Amino acid sequence: MSIRDQLKQREEDRNTPKGGGLNEGLPEGVTRYVRLGGKASELGEGRQFVMLADPDQWYFYFCHEDSTFSPFVTYVKKHTCLHSPHSVGSEIKSYSKPNGNVCISCKAKAKRKLYFMIPVFDLEYKTWRVLDIKEFHAMNLIGDYDKLEKAAKKFSKDYTLVGDVFTLTKTTDGKSFSLGSGDAEVPEEAAQFLGFTLPYEELANFREEDDIITLLTEADPEHIDKSVLGVAAQTPSTVPQQADAPIEISEEDLPF
Ligand SMILES: [Zn+2]
Repeated sequence: MSIRDQLKQREEDRNTPKGGGLNEGLPEGVTRYVRLGGKASELGEGRQFVMLADPDQWYFYFCHEDSTFSPFVTYVKKHTCLHSPHSVGSEIKSYSKPNGNVCISCKAKAKRKLYFMIPVFDLEYKTWRVLDIKEFHAMNLIGDYDKLEKAAKKFSKDYTLVGDVFTLTKTTDGKSFSLGSGDAEVPEEAAQFLGFTLPYEELANFREEDDIITLLTEADPEHIDKSVLGVAAQTPSTVPQQADAPIEISEEDLPF
């Protein structure tokens, strides 16, 4: 394989969640993450799923990212903060502050945002998937979730949305999502995924520090503190130039 292809491969590997078997069982081009935004959004006029866990059991993690929408500029490419839990059941406050001892991006003061992964059963593909959303959207969905359960409990005291169908739609302003009751029947296959431990660690795609340093090196210097990356990661113009006369090298010194 040529160096160009190998480098391309490395770039692809970096951008593909580890444990490449994650999307197994799904049709080509469909991933475990439900596409929620943009032209390729899978929601259409609303899409029904079975809820697989209560909000207290939703996995949360942090991402470093920094960009603007109009015009669209990426200052820091999105990547998972290493100071994030690897499974469900953690306290947000244990992770809410950046931690430069475990995460180089925290140390570089890159912007950090809270994300949630909501485990759902997809009625169309008959398997589990996740809704990967920012804190703001998660808050909206939890608000809807609680309203829906409260209304249903008036008629059935023990009702829970876990194991039941709901509809996910975009809000009318297009800026967030809402969760409403669904009318589809719960497929039999959904039950096996209730209480199932999803591979959140793989889904969150924790990167090696080397890869993160590469991302930070490419980041906009106005938006992070590059001094934590060391000399190798600085842009050429900031590396002090050698003022000394060039050292003479004889042909025998060359390694080839
Ligand atoms: Zn971090």
